[in-house]
Amino acid sequence: MNTLSILSAADLKKTFRVSSQGHSTRSLTALDQVSLRLEAGETLGIAGESGCGKSTLAKIMAGLLAPDSGTVCYKGTPLSELGRDEGIIFRLKTQMIFQDPFSSLNPRMRIGDSISEPFKIAGMAAPQQRIELERIMASVGLSLEAANRFPDEFSGGQRQRIGIARALAASPEILIADEPVSSLDISIQAQIINILLQMKCDFTLSMMIVSHNLLILRHICDRIIIMYLGAVVESGPAAKLFSRCRHPYTEALIAAIPGLHTTAAKSELLQDDLPSALSIPSGCRFHPRCRHAVDRCRHESPTLTDYSDGHSTACHLSNSLYG
Ligand code: SF4
Repeated sequence: MNTLSILSAADLKKTFRVSSQGHSTRSLTALDQVSLRLEAGETLGIAGESGCGKSTLAKIMAGLLAPDSGTVCYKGTPLSELGRDEGIIFRLKTQMIFQDPFSSLNPRMRIGDSISEPFKIAGMAAPQQRIELERIMASVGLSLEAANRFPDEFSGGQRQRIGIARALAASPEILIADEPVSSLDISIQAQIINILLQMKCDFTLSMMIVSHNLLILRHICDRIIIMYLGAVVESGPAAKLFSRCRHPYTEALIAAIPGLHTTAAKSELLQDDLPSALSIPSGCRFHPRCRHAVDRCRHESPTLTDYSDGHSTACHLSNSLYG
């Protein structure tokens, strides 16, 4: 593990017990041997279809959920080994932005009070709190007048601005955003993305952005990790992933982006629907949907192999398919 990474994970595994009427409890694999690193100042994107484990990964990296096994390290120290004070610092320095910011806001609390909570915890004097509140709200495009209103008086885009302001008030080093714009209109999405990009510069943040929208991730991320059924199948620099991906699943995701020039349609590249995480296919977990699958793919799981420039992929045929 790279001890210089601001946040890193090694061999994360997470399963959930699920039960349905008339069936016994079964095990759903959300994450399987996932490792990653987030460098200081970097923006890392996590992509994949719904149910691939990316939101579970975000919660574990933020310390909100414990893995079954594996380790998350903050500046090289496992979260489980952080002392009381270090743990408090980690929780303050690692802030999360949710898809639905409303659920993380107290509906009976004025948003100025919600955003100011970290100032109060830090023991900041009231006049300074007002100055900081105005500065943070202005940075996300909200006027100080809005501080006296309640969450249900705001639109979805404004609530996401409030969610970002609330996260920034803690002076974080790391921002983890789980589908921060997926519930918003296209025009509002662009505004929120621009705010996140501006925040990265103004507050020198390291960011991890979870999204099913690869085009958004290409726009804002330095590196992108592609997940499929709980495992990393490809990762690399954002530009390289688009110009020269090395995994059939990534190729299919890129082909599914409307308006992008691709040589084949998604329907030609992705066969069948996404299998259930209750029953992960043997061998390469992508093989039931892969048009290139050979016998080996059905029995032998490919390992994540490093190529040049931090590009890695898990596919037996990557060299022969992509050179
Ligand atoms: Fe397709 Fe086989 Fe590569 Fe899996 S290992 S992505 S099934 S070619």
